[in-house]
Amino acid sequence: MISRLLFFGLLALLPLLVLAAEDYYKILDVSKDADERQLRKAYRKLSKQYHPDKNPDNPKAHEKFVEVSEAYDVLSDEELRKIYNQYGHEGVAQHKQGGQRGGGRDPFDVFSSFFGGGGHFGRGQRRGPNMEVRVHMPLRDFYVGAEHEFKVEKQAICSACQGSGSKDGVRETCTKCKGQGAILQKHMLAPGIFQQVQMQCDQCGGQRSTVKHACATCKGQRVVRAEEGYELVIERGMPAGVRVNYENEGDESPDFEAGDLVVNVVEKDPELGADAKTQTDGTFFRRKGPNLFWREVLSLREAWMGGWTRNLTHLDNHIVQLSRPVGTVVQPGTVEIIANEGMPVWQQGESGDLGFGALHVEYMVVLPDQMEKGMGKDFSALWEKWRKKTGVDLGRDSGRPAGGVRDEL
Ligand SMILES: [Zn+2]
Ligand SMILES: [Zn+2]
Repeated sequence: MISRLLFFGLLALLPLLVLAAEDYYKILDVSKDADERQLRKAYRKLSKQYHPDKNPDNPKAHEKFVEVSEAYDVLSDEELRKIYNQYGHEGVAQHKQGGQRGGGRDPFDVFSSFFGGGGHFGRGQRRGPNMEVRVHMPLRDFYVGAEHEFKVEKQAICSACQGSGSKDGVRETCTKCKGQGAILQKHMLAPGIFQQVQMQCDQCGGQRSTVKHACATCKGQRVVRAEEGYELVIERGMPAGVRVNYENEGDESPDFEAGDLVVNVVEKDPELGADAKTQTDGTFFRRKGPNLFWREVLSLREAWMGGWTRNLTHLDNHIVQLSRPVGTVVQPGTVEIIANEGMPVWQQGESGDLGFGALHVEYMVVLPDQMEKGMGKDFSALWEKWRKKTGVDLGRDSGRPAGGVRDEL
C-alpha cells in the first residue's frame, strides 16, 4: 500500500519537473488567442496577487510574480509573441540573445508601468487619490446575485512609452530648473523691494526632466485617458450602497502609486414598464435591510368576502401564493408577514446559506368607482335591510366612547 502511494506520489511530481518552463498562456491563465485587453487584465490581477509586498517570506509567490511579468512581457510584444507561438521559450531566449532586446524588463518595472509608483505597494511613495464611481443595479440582481462588466474611463500610464513620455525612452534633466522641477522668480513689489516666489518650472512642467522626441501616443504627457473594464460581482443579499474596492485601480501616474477604485453599488429605481420581470400589477418590491415589501390590491368583494388567490412572481420568478378562504375579511392596510420570502441575508465574507428576511405584504382595498343604477339600488336595499339588524358602531370600533355614529355594515 505504502509503496503504491509512493509510486503515485512520484507520478504527481513528474509533471512539475516537466513544467519547469511553463506555458506563458497558462501562467497568465488566458487562451492562445487572447487579445491585448485580456492579457492586460490577466496581468493586472495576477501581478497584484503574487506581488512580493503582499507575500512577504513567500519565495513561491515571488517566483510566480517574476513568471507572470515575464509571460506578460513576452506576450504583450507582438513580435516576441509570434516567435513564442512558433518556437516556444527557446525561440524567445535566442531572439533576446540576438541583441534585439535585453533580458526582458525588470518585473517591478513592468508592475510600475501598470500601477505607477516604484513597482511596490505603498512603500513611502506618494499615493494617488481614490477614484469613486457609482453603479446602479436593479433589486433583482441583489436578490439573485449577478456578475456585471463595467467600464471606467481613467488616467492610465501610456503603454506605448511605458510612462516615460519619450519615443526612445530617453529623458534628459531639465535645463531650466536643473532637475529641481521648480524655479525661483523675482517679483518687484515696489521700487527696490523684491519678493522671491517659487514656481513650477514651465519648461518641464515640474517633471524635472524633458524629452527630445515625444511619444506619439501620449504626446509626451506620459499618461493617456483609457477605458478599463472590470468585473463586478453582486453577491446575493448584498446591501445597497455597498462599496466594492478595487485595489490600485484608480487613476495611474508614473509619479505615484495608483489609488483604489471604489465602486459604490446602489439600487436602481424601478421604472414602470422597463423591466417586466421585476414588477407585477404596476407595483414593485421594495427593500429595507433583509426584508421586502409588497403592496397587493384587493377588490371590495375580495377583501370582504374572501375566496381569492394571488400568484406573486418573486424576484427570481418563483411563485409566492397569497390567498384567503371564503368568509375571511382582509381589512385595508393589513400587513401580512411571510417568513423567508424577503432578501437573502448577507454577511461580509460569509458565502453560506444564511437564510432570508421576511416579505411584508400590505393589502390595499380599492372600492368600485362606477356602479350601474340597478346595482346601486340593490346594494342600498341590502345595506338598509342589514344595517338595522347588525350595524357597526364605528365609534366603539375605533376606540372612542360609544353612542356616536352608528352606521354601515
Ligand atoms: Zn507615451
Ligand atoms: Zn524644469
